[in-house]
Amino acid sequence: MAVLPIRLFGDPVLSEPAGPVSSIDGKTSRFAHDMAETMYEAPGVGLAATQVDVHERVITIDVSESRDELRVFINPEILWASDEHKVWDEGCLSVPDIYDKVDRPARVRVRALNEKGDTFELEADDLLAVCIQHEMDHLMGKVFVEYLSPLKQTRIRSKLKKHQRDAAPHR
Ligand code: ZN
Repeated sequence: MAVLPIRLFGDPVLSEPAGPVSSIDGKTSRFAHDMAETMYEAPGVGLAATQVDVHERVITIDVSESRDELRVFINPEILWASDEHKVWDEGCLSVPDIYDKVDRPARVRVRALNEKGDTFELEADDLLAVCIQHEMDHLMGKVFVEYLSPLKQTRIRSKLKKHQRDAAPHR
């Protein structure tokens, strides 16, 4: 198991769409476990493969308080989304310390494969529904910041540049 480096908003790899996983083998489940370890270590409630520069449709999520309900979604598809929408204050491991309101369908039904290659379907609401949609956006190359106004996006970009400058070792 390994903790993988998480790419930050502004890095072009976050705009790259992910392709489907063609076959699920030991390598896929090892990668899903590395993603889970990275997500728990961060700590975050969800992570998409795109964020660790792997462009395959893999997501890990754990929205439980106890941090012991890991869900792995491989090749996820949204089968249905509610007409009812909900506004949630979202954050992202690729956009540290930034939270802002995003409007999304309140409930979704999703179909995916787990790390063993079994198909499952799930109807999600609240944080789990938000998280699934947020992570699936990453797989399409979209970061939640892109839902915000151009002014807010510009502010976030300059804040993150400063954050990276402060974090970078002096040369
Ligand atoms: Zn994110």
